[in-house]
Amino acid sequence: MIPLIKIKIDEEEKKSVLDVLESGMITQSKKVAQFEQEFSELCGTKYAIAVNSGTAALHSALYALGIKEGDEVITTPFTFAATANAIIMLGAKPIFADIEEETFNLDPKKVEEKITSKTKAILPVNLFGHPYEVENINELAKKYNLQVLEDACQSVCAKFKNKISGDFGDIAAFSFYATKNMMTGEGGMITTNKEEYAELAKRFRHHGQSEKTKYEYLDLGYNYRMTDISAAIGICQLKKIKELTKKRQKNAETLTRGLSGLNGLITPKTKDNNEHAFHQYTLRITEEFGISRDEFSEKLKEKGIGTAIFYPKCLHLHAHFSRFGYNKGDFPVAEKISQEVLSLPIQPYLQETELNKIIKVIRGLKDE
Ligand SMILES: *Cc1c(COP(=O)(O)O)cnc(C)c1O
Repeated sequence: MIPLIKIKIDEEEKKSVLDVLESGMITQSKKVAQFEQEFSELCGTKYAIAVNSGTAALHSALYALGIKEGDEVITTPFTFAATANAIIMLGAKPIFADIEEETFNLDPKKVEEKITSKTKAILPVNLFGHPYEVENINELAKKYNLQVLEDACQSVCAKFKNKISGDFGDIAAFSFYATKNMMTGEGGMITTNKEEYAELAKRFRHHGQSEKTKYEYLDLGYNYRMTDISAAIGICQLKKIKELTKKRQKNAETLTRGLSGLNGLITPKTKDNNEHAFHQYTLRITEEFGISRDEFSEKLKEKGIGTAIFYPKCLHLHAHFSRFGYNKGDFPVAEKISQEVLSLPIQPYLQETELNKIIKVIRGLKDE
């Protein structure tokens, strides 16, 4: 089987974790501080605040932006549930807007149509590792006096012009879940250039205590702290992440070259001025291909190629989100795309023979 996802823990990671365990300092301490410092350098932001999941990062970031009950936050219906759930956690309302076919990311024109007097923030996702429409969305935010929270859970090391993911909007949220491009088992990070947001995020991860004045509870908070055990893994992962990203990008190039010219198969695009981090390599299988997306994935499985569908159903069509007043047909592009997408293996440990097999098997489907 050529797996969609491969997680490799090397000797250095094992040793670092063991060192932390033996030190007896296993909760948030020096390793977390070091991880935060080094992660902020990677993203080119002033601050990085470690938490224990991407969901916690999104929740804390929205809190830092001052999102509260009755506010509206505009986001995409074509994402993982955590993106929209973080909005609901603060009592705010997720307002979905449709996406662009080309990148699967929020369509700035559709976002603008959704802005009301209650809108406080835009929450674009760099889906599969492709940056959101940074310039257009940031301009909208400026024009309507809104904040931008970048969901960077899939986009570590992605770039737009000279900016690195984590620094595209006012604040960003990363996930280090085991299957993400870099991981700490479970984990997350908030990045920002604003001192106030950094301070509020730190407070939120620690029951509303300011780290400056201990045992003064200033507001509601949670226990979102990262352990030094996780941070030790994160520090090791940071040393490899640029190299691993390059391998993903190279694998994507190989697949795109090998899969070109097949009618009904659309390979992922990278817009000008953007660098894709390729968390997922996501194809579209349209009607012209001749067999359905689901048959396509079944045939790949028979030949030992792992695939997955991210995401088979848009958020607004799930009971949990449709209760906000959404119906089938509200976001036609996202709904169509969810029926066409299929992610192929792109992980950095793929061998050339495996990439060639994937290409050969897919090209073979056309001749059957
Ligand atoms: C993974 C992911 C999250 C949530 O991260 P967790 O660490 O699993 O909580 C949020 N948004 C997107 C787009 C993700 O891919």
